Amino acid sequence: MLTLELIKRPPRAEIGQMSRILVVEDEELIRDMVVLALEAEGYAIATAAEGRTALALLQAEPMLGELPFDLVILDLMLPQINGLDVCRLLRHQGNPVPILILSAKGSETDRVLGLEVGADDYLTKPFSIRELIARCRALLRRQRFVGLPQLPMLQFKEITLYPQECRVLVRGQEVNLSPKEFRLLDLFMNHPRRVWSREHLLDQVWGADFVGDSKTVDVHIRWLREKLELDPSHPEYIVTVRGFGYRFG
Ligand code: CA
Repeated sequence: MLTLELIKRPPRAEIGQMSRILVVEDEELIRDMVVLALEAEGYAIATAAEGRTALALLQAEPMLGELPFDLVILDLMLPQINGLDVCRLLRHQGNPVPILILSAKGSETDRVLGLEVGADDYLTKPFSIRELIARCRALLRRQRFVGLPQLPMLQFKEITLYPQECRVLVRGQEVNLSPKEFRLLDLFMNHPRRVWSREHLLDQVWGADFVGDSKTVDVHIRWLREKLELDPSHPEYIVTVRGFGYRFG
């Protein structure tokens, strides 16, 4: 079934939806205090008491191009998977959700480390609830002004392409594409099931004044398949149409 869709969604604030915050904290007292305060501010809150649950919640499939949460408040000292590793894993997977680290570790090294692994802000315990709320607001506002980083996007089966960020996720993992590979995939995903001749692809991706032969296209298609397909010799995404060229989907 063809599931390609281009999703352009206005920022949540413009459509009157409440922002969703995930609070990851193993200490029940602190967790409850944070949840109560944020709910009083009108946010929708979910909680996790350890890293594994947090990751499972955060790795949920985006629905209609939306990440499951608009912000994560993340304690560092957690059982099993600690907060730094949660943060590192999420960024490694290309998950752009804003992260506010909340931790008793207040030394400069920990703060720098937290920011280096991809957190957006860092608050040291003990903290004031007012400061926490102010920082949450700032992060959510910043996200709104920057524009939701993950949108608009193109999705087809297990491939997600973010045109403005030149990023591609395949089965949830970020893949590195060369500029030509990216432009090829972008073109394909914008025209699912359309058959392209090699010459037409050369025109569209390399430009009309490209000097070279259509074997160039075949080589790039092969590289792209190696990055996208589970079995590049039996491609599911970039299909050869004998006598004509290639088709996506
Ligand atoms: Ca803790």
